[in-house]
Parts: sequence; C-alpha cells; structure tokens
Amino acid sequence: MATCLVTGGAGFLGSHLCDELLRREHRVICVDNLETGSLVNIEHIRDSAFVHLNLDITDTYHVEEPVDFVYHLASPASPIDYLRLPLHTLKVGSYGTHHTLGLAKAKRARFLLASTSEIYGDPQEHPQRESYWGHVNPIGPRGVYDEAKRYAEALTMAYHRQQGVDTSIVRIFNTYGSRMRAHDGRVIPTLLRQALANRPLTVFGDGSQTRSFCFVSDLIRGLIALAESGQHAPVNIGNPDEFTLLELVEVVLEVTGATAPIIHEALPIDDPKQRRPDITLARELLDWTPEVALSDGLRLTIEQSRPERLLGDQAG
Ligand code: NAD
Repeated sequence: MATCLVTGGAGFLGSHLCDELLRREHRVICVDNLETGSLVNIEHIRDSAFVHLNLDITDTYHVEEPVDFVYHLASPASPIDYLRLPLHTLKVGSYGTHHTLGLAKAKRARFLLASTSEIYGDPQEHPQRESYWGHVNPIGPRGVYDEAKRYAEALTMAYHRQQGVDTSIVRIFNTYGSRMRAHDGRVIPTLLRQALANRPLTVFGDGSQTRSFCFVSDLIRGLIALAESGQHAPVNIGNPDEFTLLELVEVVLEVTGATAPIIHEALPIDDPKQRRPDITLARELLDWTPEVALSDGLRLTIEQSRPERLLGDQAG
C-alpha cells in the first residue's frame, strides 16, 4: 500500500484517479481548492484511506505525512475555464507545479505531471509522437494553457536533471467519461447534453477536423502504469481511433437515439485541425493499450452519470 497525493483530485480525471487508487488499496490525499472541480465528484468516497485538503497549490503548501507518489493534475483544463482564468492557469502551471515538485522532492516521491496533447498545438506531424516539438501560438488565447503545460514539462525535467527528483510526464489526449461538466465547453459533454435534450448539435467549422477520444478508465489505467514505471521522458496516453467531428456526431446520435439537426458555428481561434496520438511508446513501455471503443464509452458515460450533470441547466 502506497500513499498517493493527487492534486486536482476533485476534478473530472482526478476523482476517477482517486477512486482507482483507493480500489487498489492505496491511501489517497486529494489536494484541490475546487476552482473547477467539485465536492460532488468525491462525496461518494467513504474510506478512511482518503482525505481531501482544500489548498490552493499556487501558494506554498505542506503535507505532514510521508508520500510515495504525487499525481499532479491540478489545472483548469477545459477551454471555458482557462479562457476565464488565464492568469490562474499560468500560475498553476508555474508556481503550482514548482510547489508540487518541491513537495515530491522533500518526500522523495515519484512525481507524475499531467501534461496534454495541447503542447503539440496545431500539429504539423500526424499522428503525434512524443518526439514532435509542437506548433503552438504562444500569444493566442489558448497560449495560457498550452504554454503553462510546456513550462510545467520543462520544470519537471529540470527538477529531474538538476534535483534528482523521480519524475514522469503523461501527455493526455482528449478524455471523456462521467463527471465532466455539461457546460464545460468540451465537445463530448456538449454533444451529449444537446442530444439528450434533443436540441440542435453544435459543430465548430465544417466538422472535418479530427479528434481522438479516450474513455476515462483506459486513461486512468495508463496514468497509474506510467507512474509505477521508471520512465522519465513524456509518454502519450490517448485513444488512436480518429474521428472527424461529423463522425463523432453520428456516433452520439446513434448512442442517444436523438434525431436533432446539426448547426455549424465559427471555429475557435487556433483550433487544431487534427489530433491523434501515436501510442507506440505506451504500448512498448507500459504494455498499455485502450480497450473501450467510442460508442461503448459514450454509453458508459451516460449510464454512469447523474442525469442532471449530463443535462446541466439545459440552457444552450
Ligand atoms: P478539471 O478541471 O475537472 O480538474 C482540475 C482540478 O484542478 C479541479 O478539481 C480544480 O478545482 C483543481 N485546481 C485548479 N486549480 C487549482 C489550484 N490552484 N489548487 C488546487 N486545485 C486546483 O480538469 P480535468 O479534465 O480533470 O483535467 C485534469 C488534468 O488533466 C489537468 O491538468 C488537465 O490539463 C489534464 N488534461 C486533461 C484532459 C482531458 O481530456 N480531460 C486532456 C489533457 C490534459
């Protein structure tokens, strides 16, 4: 049994990670100031091996007990959040990551940074391998998120090289599942909310841009496998099945049985045209491969979600 500290543990991915670590009989310290997360995501946890500390990681913070693993997930992650919180997003990536790496160093813990496929920007290489350096607009509105994560990666490698911290970096590609917020602006909760209310489905641009969607249980399995490995260089974790947004809409309509029409809206600034992970490294290194197909994952998301969370307030 290990003690795992999870920053962002009351968020979408963090709360699923806490659940899985507890299921594997680890102790879990969840550090989350509920900026974009919610107690609703962790209120079902009735386990003496779990504690939630309401701390803002952009301030220096301390934890009394020994820690074996630090999973650093705290950060606004959906475009709606990081566009609303640009400075906070930069501070979490910089100060928040400094403080959390400092804690991992003090505890001699293995550290895992939740990075993102967004560090590849609008990629010129397809699919994206870890060796690709990216094509990011640093001064566009999305730059606050992309560059915060790129800085956090640089910082993580510096703590590893200069301070000897045992670090790892996961580059997470679009992930979906229960506990996403209906109005967080990401494509799957948006389309599910609209389809379940039988309202028109919004597609940005002509819908020919591609994305790859990983079900949350696959992602969490990959995250833990990476944390428990000896790897230091970044590893992509995501599902390589690639869909255009119009294909995604078709699957959503099929799974929900909705018949609503599609409406097209303007593409967001710097929206990547293609996104698909090359997961050769994760396969070879971690023996990890995603198992849940998109239609199954969407069905599971609906089954595992509270209806009010999928539907939100029905506005929009
Ligand atoms: P989320 O917004 O649901 O979770 C983030 C959590 O961090 C929230 O609970 C929030 O309250 C917490 N947090 C934010 N600022 C904080 C601070 N200053 N101090 C303490 N806690 C703070 O987002 P998510 O989708 O679960 O993403 C989790 C991580 O995974 C993020 O780092 C994100 O960049 C990364 N990621 C997610 C995806 C995805 O598809 N969901 C893709 C790529 C990367």
